[in-house]
Amino acid sequence: MMNQTPVTSQSASQCGPQQRGATMEEVAHLKDPAANTPEEALHALREGNMRFYSGTPHNTTISANERRAQIMAQTPFAVVLGCADSRVPVELIFDVGPGDIFGIRVAGNVVEQSTLGSIEYAVRHLKVHLLVVLGHEGCGAVAAAMLSAEKRAAESENVRFLLEKIEPAVRDLPPIRDAKARMREAATSNVRYQVEMLRQNSVVAAAIARGQIQVIGAFYEIGSGAVDFLRDEE
Ligand SMILES: [Zn+2]
Repeated sequence: MMNQTPVTSQSASQCGPQQRGATMEEVAHLKDPAANTPEEALHALREGNMRFYSGTPHNTTISANERRAQIMAQTPFAVVLGCADSRVPVELIFDVGPGDIFGIRVAGNVVEQSTLGSIEYAVRHLKVHLLVVLGHEGCGAVAAAMLSAEKRAAESENVRFLLEKIEPAVRDLPPIRDAKARMREAATSNVRYQVEMLRQNSVVAAAIARGQIQVIGAFYEIGSGAVDFLRDEE
């Protein structure tokens, strides 16, 4: 048995997690993210998604003491920029617990000022190792961006702002008759476009250049629960 007794030797002036009842082991675990390289981060997400779609998820709930220890710091290993769609809960589909993923969710998983600011923060201050742009099957935002300019003009200003961030990605799609295949092409095209936008960001580009991070696109199929990581097209 590990010793679970809280350490009490800190001076009163320090406000550490020990005072809140976390053990040294739990505090040490805080500084030990689940992945330390882009490759390890991608592996962890692949393995987690496999557990999710095969119906064998880990128990990702954490103890009260672990929660208290988490007050001190966060050490996520990846950023996932996903859609706000209720059927795409990022932590569930990658089978991770609190503290593992820096999750950003916005309709259409678009790169714009607020999502970029969140990502820059995670790259510079949280030292994440992977940025994932996660599109998905049946994305309403992508479908709306494919409507005529006339129909899009009927939306509110803020919705139009979102759609304008997606529209360049779906403007020149090849003609595909099958509706499901066409929507998948549109969603993955949007993912590749947002990945490209991310790579053009100076903070992201510098982190790629020094080997801290990789940026990768992915597509979540609601029906199967599986995530496909997209290869770069050259
Ligand atoms: Zn969506």
